[in-house]
Amino acid sequence: MVDYFKQVDSSSESVHLVQYGETYEGRPLFIAIITHPENKLSVDEIRTNHLISSGLEEGIAPEKDYALVWLSYSVHGNESSSTEAAMETLFSFANTSNKKTMEWLRRTIVIIDPCMNPDGRDRYVQFYTMTGTHPPDANIGTREHQEPWPGGRTNHYYFDLNRDWTWQTQVETVNRMQLYNSWMPHIHVDYHEQYFNEPYYFAPAAKPYHLQITSWQRDFQKIIGKNHSRYFDNNNWLYFTKEHFDLLYPGYGDTYPIYNGAIGMTYEKAGGAAGGVSAITSDGDTLTLRSRIKHHHTTGLSTVESAYKHKDRIIKEFKYFFNKGIDNPISKYKTFVIKAGLNDPKREDLLRWLDTHGIKYGHPVDDRARSVRGYNYFLGKYDSFRIQENDIIISADQKKSVLTQVLFEPITHYEDSLTYDITAWSIPYVYGLEAYALETVIPQESFNIQGSSKVVHAWDDEPYAYLNPWKSVYDLKFLSEVLKNNMVVRVSEEPFEVGGIVYDRGTLVITRKGNETKGQRFDTLLRKISIKYNTNLGSVMTGLVTKGKDFGSSTMRVVKAPKVAVLSGEDVSSYNFGEVWHYFEQQIGYPISVYDASEVQSLPLDEINVLIMPEGGYGSFVNEISPSEKIVEETNADGLIINEPPEEILDWVRSGGRLIVIGSAMEKFVDKNGYGLVKYDSKESKEAAQELKKKRQKEYQLKKYKDKNRARLSDASYGSIIRVDIDNTHPLMFGYGENYFSLRQGSRMFPYLPKGWNVGTLKNSSSHVSGFMGHRVKQKIKDNLIFGVHESGRGRIIYMADNPLFRGFWYNGKLLFGNAVFIVGN
Ligand SMILES: [Zn+2]
Repeated sequence: MVDYFKQVDSSSESVHLVQYGETYEGRPLFIAIITHPENKLSVDEIRTNHLISSGLEEGIAPEKDYALVWLSYSVHGNESSSTEAAMETLFSFANTSNKKTMEWLRRTIVIIDPCMNPDGRDRYVQFYTMTGTHPPDANIGTREHQEPWPGGRTNHYYFDLNRDWTWQTQVETVNRMQLYNSWMPHIHVDYHEQYFNEPYYFAPAAKPYHLQITSWQRDFQKIIGKNHSRYFDNNNWLYFTKEHFDLLYPGYGDTYPIYNGAIGMTYEKAGGAAGGVSAITSDGDTLTLRSRIKHHHTTGLSTVESAYKHKDRIIKEFKYFFNKGIDNPISKYKTFVIKAGLNDPKREDLLRWLDTHGIKYGHPVDDRARSVRGYNYFLGKYDSFRIQENDIIISADQKKSVLTQVLFEPITHYEDSLTYDITAWSIPYVYGLEAYALETVIPQESFNIQGSSKVVHAWDDEPYAYLNPWKSVYDLKFLSEVLKNNMVVRVSEEPFEVGGIVYDRGTLVITRKGNETKGQRFDTLLRKISIKYNTNLGSVMTGLVTKGKDFGSSTMRVVKAPKVAVLSGEDVSSYNFGEVWHYFEQQIGYPISVYDASEVQSLPLDEINVLIMPEGGYGSFVNEISPSEKIVEETNADGLIINEPPEEILDWVRSGGRLIVIGSAMEKFVDKNGYGLVKYDSKESKEAAQELKKKRQKEYQLKKYKDKNRARLSDASYGSIIRVDIDNTHPLMFGYGENYFSLRQGSRMFPYLPKGWNVGTLKNSSSHVSGFMGHRVKQKIKDNLIFGVHESGRGRIIYMADNPLFRGFWYNGKLLFGNAVFIVGN
């Protein structure tokens, strides 16, 4: 595919290839920009002219303006026909004898990203190449249609790149967002494939739509859909519109462009990994790769045709989109105020992230110290507060007004709760930063973040010890590197005061004592690491504190460099495994060993200190029958108890191992001896739950057929935000304040640990903050465990009912996970 694009580029004057990055596995990411052969402008001139004519950049308006159409293919690597279709589409626009496309190119510019996820696509293609039979077998049950774990949908770290547009946790997205925001197309199409029996889906999209989506954006989807339907009707091809694919969550390749003024759309052809090269469908027809390519090629051309026909309106509406917010933001909140200390690294990370989206922010100008009222995100209600000099003011009165409102409004506005993805993402909760939403506009003064929060260090000569406060992911990176350098580090379990400075729990204490072998390098190394990660490393000349415990106290626990193992493989969530993998490798830089979950009984447990079980069903877990033979019905013919956590694991925990269990993996340990996790905490609650279940079952049995998709909504929760009460005196919560805002997936609940530490809990019934949560889930939200630690022998089992690493974007969860790995149980 790369060679083909290069070949066309070198033989055509109207095609320009631009490489915009490289994947984790080193494959190139590039786009082709296609203009009319008579349009002799350079790539940079084309881009600048577009931005000027859209009012996004200052300058002299070009003579001619163009509708800019961007077609993106194969964000999901195993939806393979799209990249093939990209080649044919490129050919149609590079072929100067094609009268139609040459006419359209007179007033349109076409950008093709032929493969957004080359690592995933190659994973799928290699699989098919290795397993496909000749001639291809259309029988769907055969090996060539059954892609093995983890599949080619995701990228190298098993992240879904079509959930990552807003967050940019993956290198492919980081590179693409920079490119996208430097072009800002009028139309963006994200090419996909769906279940092999579903024929074709194109715009208009399904409800719910975010309330910020304009009537023009809604209308033009219908116009394009109508154009496509002409071609499909003429060929008697089946298709559907307005179903499944909604427009709410901002991390998609359709919604993100929409919140950036474009007409963003998803097109889905039957196929995917199950499609192979040919597949027999439910109506007895044969779906071929050839036909999949043809349909995607058709909608590509039809999209550009629609853009050409409506170019003037498209250009006008796009320009209007970026000015309308200035007069009248739709959200009732006009200004968002973020409170973050100048030396809080979260602050700089937030600002850097805002820069990637082109969202403007500033300092308050003339309202300093004035008391104002606003919606307090942490308290979930209106409150008075003072605007201070270093507050970050983000006004909805700006070109990226819509995106700002979508990302910052405290509660997501949606028309319908039957949606495809998470329903809450408000940024102050993601970062865990105190913030207010105001109904008024606060004058602001833009500033540049460069170096604004560089820590100024003043170290003693040859100090007795270095102290590093425990506040953010940068302190975690610092610890990771210090441990990799084999240094002795302690963590303080109690707050203390020395040299007039108060240090919170979790502060790292690194004494000269114990690190003598480093000699002079002790100082140079620590200082270098601290400067690298911009941590607040200080020094002291004494181990005698003025308040709290001295450095030789047993409450100063030695942090040993843990050997970390993670389970993966079939029946482990590839997403969650990938999040853990990415966390260690790309975020904090600490080595891990990966084992297959089915091999759990032969793990070298003696060499492992921390074992992580990502979400998953762990169906491969088996255990030799125990003397009590308590679960007879789950015993197989070989006398093995299936689906029990193996006894070796518990023995290992008792002798000092730390087991981290995330989300659905907790189910494996419910009511199992020695693991401290129960389904019900009392006889009464068990009876009450059973009573409720009976009642619900009856209601469900009597539902109307037409309500079949909605009936379960009241028991559902789609990625909503909850307020977790935390015990920040426990090592799992070192570095946190009173509350932690968590992203709740699904409705699974666990009662408090009977004998363990209930460190993160839902204490009251008003813990739900934002996003869709069915009324029945809300009813039972009180008195549940989110994060807990069960002590067993010398070891610990750390339960995380919510996944703090979800999609790698929940910024405030990173330190918590680091606590579980490095701090708990020392
Ligand atoms: Zn897809």
